[in-house]
Amino acid sequence: MTHQELWQSALGEIEINISKANFITWFKQTTILDKKGGRVVVGVPNGFSKEWLQNKYHKLILKSLRNIFNDIKEIEFSIYSPSNNPANENNNTDSKTLNQKGLIIQDEQLGFKEFEVNKDTNLNPKYTFDTFIVGSFNELARAAAQGIVEKLGTLYNPLFIYGGVGLGKTHLLQSIGNAVSKKNKNTKIKYISTDKFTSELVEALYNGQIKDFKNKYQKIDLLIIDDIQFLTGKEKTQEEFFHIFNGLYQKNKQIILSSDRPPKAIATLEERLRSRFEGGMIADISYPDIETRTAILKIKAKEKNINLPDDIINYLATNISKNIRELEGALNRIIALVQLNSILPSASQIESIVTSIAAPPKKSISYKTILSLVAEFYDMKVDEMINKSRRRDIVFPRQVAMYLMRKELKTSYPFIGEKLGGRDHTTVMYACDKLTKELEKNNNLKQEIDSIKEKLYI
Ligand code: ADP
Ligand code: MG
Repeated sequence: MTHQELWQSALGEIEINISKANFITWFKQTTILDKKGGRVVVGVPNGFSKEWLQNKYHKLILKSLRNIFNDIKEIEFSIYSPSNNPANENNNTDSKTLNQKGLIIQDEQLGFKEFEVNKDTNLNPKYTFDTFIVGSFNELARAAAQGIVEKLGTLYNPLFIYGGVGLGKTHLLQSIGNAVSKKNKNTKIKYISTDKFTSELVEALYNGQIKDFKNKYQKIDLLIIDDIQFLTGKEKTQEEFFHIFNGLYQKNKQIILSSDRPPKAIATLEERLRSRFEGGMIADISYPDIETRTAILKIKAKEKNINLPDDIINYLATNISKNIRELEGALNRIIALVQLNSILPSASQIESIVTSIAAPPKKSISYKTILSLVAEFYDMKVDEMINKSRRRDIVFPRQVAMYLMRKELKTSYPFIGEKLGGRDHTTVMYACDKLTKELEKNNNLKQEIDSIKEKLYI
């Protein structure tokens, strides 16, 4: 891979993480000047860009480069003069040449829109229902979301959407906000991540402004809180959130929450909050099937004005199955290569893109890793899980650990029994059997186990 190819692939990733306007402003005239060992020198046109990239985008750039070569450890920014850089000719690839090869449907520059996140609402107008692709995996969540736009505060309150990473929760939440705002400009909307909410709260407490903080939230008509699983273990935040929640709920104000798991699986969530979350509508987003993944890729390629052959689309759809963000990332990297070289990337290039994105090399895992991941997921200590307790909230994670040790490591029943507190092999057999049966009918459980499994192989 040349420096230029590396940079184009990284740019493909960076592009999906920031607004088009920022992307063009800050990344248009950048390049890779040098790569030696773990150190990459990024060329920037002037001192101002240098500072800006260093301060604002250093992490994102490093992450995007490391997705391609994980040995990259360090980035240096260096000013260069774009006109002297031979690689730059490629940046200005004439869209006409691409057109002649039939890859680009129309000039991309004509079609792009700039997206600015609204500072009051935190809504990004790029997320809309129009661009949200629906399949059986997400239709319930989408229908609930659209229902809410029609009957704010009265149909489902709260709405709780859960599903794994990269499956469209944020997109859907933001679409609701954007649709409501379009319908009625006067509705007071706020979208906020749980992390941001927590840090705002901590700051308000620190500055003695907790009253203002609460008042601000009580004026909201539609409150959207993303990734609520991060409330885990934050007691003070949970408490304040509980009061804000109640205040809004009593006034029929709409509350929407998302999480990577259902309320019952968020371990150290206060019971009163859990029952509030369960009191409204709960909708899940599962994994898209192969037809939907193909459709998503085709639609996204079309949005980017690129015509990709079916075999490439099928290859991506087959090999990336659990994460729409990854599907999009792979597609963007391929598009970047097409734009750079005016020809389709080779099969091996595509393969290496997919491997770097979707299939981290399988490492050999030990039973201890399983124990600690299961314990972490259910928010308890490994010792607690192993001890003699028969409490359901402990027995269940223990059974999950048994099941995973059997399925993932193929270890014997007696071995598993021994490692889980000296239990009899029949207890282990019973647990594995029970979970296998349960998994056939219980989609929530399947997602819980999948998300533990995902972490096993990172
Ligand atoms: P999550 O919040 O569940 O981690 P996101 O909403 O951030 O996932 O989605 C990841 C990426 O995939 C975003 O770029 C989003 O636009 C895209 N995406 C997810 N689901 C869909 C969908 N159903 N249709 C179109 N794009 C989607
Ligand atoms: Mg999200």
